[in-house]
Formats: sequence, C-alpha cells, structure tokens
Amino acid sequence: MKLIFLGPPGAGKGTLAVKAAEILKILQISTGSIFRSAVADGSPLGLKVKGIMDAGKLVDDETTIELVRERLAKDDVQKGYILDGFPRTIPQAQALESFSKVEKVINFDIPDSGVLERLGGRRVCRMCGYNFHAVFNKPAKEGICDHCGGEVYIREDDKPEAIQKRLEVYRTQTAPLIDYYREKGLLLDIDAKPMVDQIVINFKNALGI
Ligand code: AMP
Repeated sequence: MKLIFLGPPGAGKGTLAVKAAEILKILQISTGSIFRSAVADGSPLGLKVKGIMDAGKLVDDETTIELVRERLAKDDVQKGYILDGFPRTIPQAQALESFSKVEKVINFDIPDSGVLERLGGRRVCRMCGYNFHAVFNKPAKEGICDHCGGEVYIREDDKPEAIQKRLEVYRTQTAPLIDYYREKGLLLDIDAKPMVDQIVINFKNALGI
C-alpha cells in the first residue's frame, strides 16, 4: 500500500508511521529524518538545510522533490511505503504524481492545543528517530532510547519560536493539500487527538484492515 501521512507538526504522524509500517510490512519514509541525518553527517545537503530546519521553515521544493524521487526509485519501496512529512506543498504533490501513484492520504485531524502539548514535550532519539514525550511517553531511563540506547534530545525546531513558525508554515503551505487530496477522493480523516494506541485503532478502521 502506498500512503501519505498528512497533518500538522506534532500530530503524531511519525509515531503512528513506525507502528503502521510494522502492521502493513512496508517502509516509512520521513523526509524530516532524512534531512536530520544529513545534518548530523555534515553532508552538503545537511549544510544546506540546517539553518532552514532550525528556523522551522521548509526546504525548497526542488531539493525535497529530488530527494523523494530518488528514494522512491529504490527496490525496497516498490510494494508500498508511508510518506511521513511529504508532500508539504502543492508543487510537491504534483511532482509526486509524476513518479508514483499514491493510494490513500491519511489526514491527522487535531486542534492546535493538541499540537502544542505534543510538540512542547516531544523528545526524539538521535540514533533511531523514535519519538518520546516528556510526560505521556517517557523513556524508561531518562535521556536514553528504550529501543536502541541512543541519546534522547529536544529537536532544535521543537523550541517555542520554531514551533510557531512551523504551525504558520503548515497552515499556509501544507493545509491546502487537505482539499487537494479530498477532491481527488484519496483522503481519509482520522481523529489524532487520543493516545497512540487509540490512533492505531482509528487508522486501521479508516483503512478497513
Ligand atoms: P518533520 O520531521 O517532518 O517535522 O520535518 C522537519 C523539517 O524538515 C521541516 O520543518 C522542514 O524544515 C524539513 N522538511 C521535512 N519534510 C519537508 C518537505 N516535504 N518539504 C520541505 N521541507 C521539509
């Protein structure tokens, strides 16, 4: 199955994507994680995107589209994938149609209050990217990932000024994709307010699996 996860930052897309990828036996592709790895490696791509990401802005369409085009050409995603964080603009969505055929778009429905609560407490593993929360989903040992032993940290763009910028970017550039995909008959809305186990159930119900 070829899926897009669409929703504001902090809606729980990354957390559900890990679980959904296991359930459906397909790969999760997170453009944000790919960019963060490039920054950590200090590669030319990383140097180019670091400042943009830290400020909560979007990387340019051309760079992002090329990255996804190359990733989706690999053998391991020919059966299916979950795109987490792509597309984020109408031009990205239009480009995607030229190289892959998405079957469903899962729209994470959550009010701003829920987003702020999640992003404010989000903690991420630097090695495997797993998401924790300072209150609702703490790692067993403070600062250490339960899954891989990596360092758990606060993303630069989860700091208050960047959160505001990311929400504004979401509203102006990404939210128009909701109507774009609804008009194409691809959109499935899921209630993303509850805790993750319930979101998994909502997701399965939406897909009828
Ligand atoms: P995320 O982990 O999905 O919240 O992404 C973190 C950051 O990576 C974003 O705030 C952007 O700076 C960048 N990014 C990720 N995906 C995209 C995309 N599809 N288009 C442009 N920038 C992106």
